[in-house]
Amino acid sequence: MSHSIDQSIARRGLMLVLTAPSGCGKSTITQALMKDDPSIAVSVSATTRSPRPGEEDGVHYFFMEEGRFKEKVNNQEFLEWAEVFGRFYGTPKEPVEQALSAGKDVFFDIDWQGAEQLQNNAPDDLVWICILPPSQQSLEDRLRARAQDSEDTIAKRMAEAESEASHWVDADYVVVNDDLDKATQQVQAILQAERLKRVRRTGLADFVATL
Ligand code: 5GP
Repeated sequence: MSHSIDQSIARRGLMLVLTAPSGCGKSTITQALMKDDPSIAVSVSATTRSPRPGEEDGVHYFFMEEGRFKEKVNNQEFLEWAEVFGRFYGTPKEPVEQALSAGKDVFFDIDWQGAEQLQNNAPDDLVWICILPPSQQSLEDRLRARAQDSEDTIAKRMAEAESEASHWVDADYVVVNDDLDKATQQVQAILQAERLKRVRRTGLADFVATL
């Protein structure tokens, strides 16, 4: 990828969080984003849940016992942490801080509870995009297409999705995914604009001095 002068001015990295009710295309958008821009680092969370088949410690998550997790909470080693479906999840602080200081952007796969904490703890660093479905019906169709679940499970997933969607009010941006390519382009456009924000551009004074 070629860099303009604008993009080469030193800056602090940003924290990118996408939240979405499940079935809204978040993981497809994320994959496209990472493929087009491999310089984005991915934050690896700690969790007390067990690894699923194919998941590797230190790659997908840092898997740990609850005692160790709580010790880290007490030592303030997490940027944010939350309980999700009865398990604990948290973002280790140090790697994120190192990446941001080095001008690298960091992507977080966390839920709205984590995004809210980042918003309180690091408002200048966070870019929070909420992805929404174009309609309730489309969400239900997508959930049905994804799995052969019972009506009960689908109803439960719909309720969860509606509760997740209700947090759009806290996000910085809202993208309605009625077309995957368009939604991906919109997320990329947000990222591009956010990278040019004056507050993050630590090298501006040096650059202007050369003019
Ligand atoms: P899973 O167990 O399916 O990998 O993740 C369950 C949920 O936990 C997902 O909504 C995921 O985004 C969220 N999650 C994963 N890591 C973190 C984290 O570090 N902090 C928070 N707040 N949520 C997380």
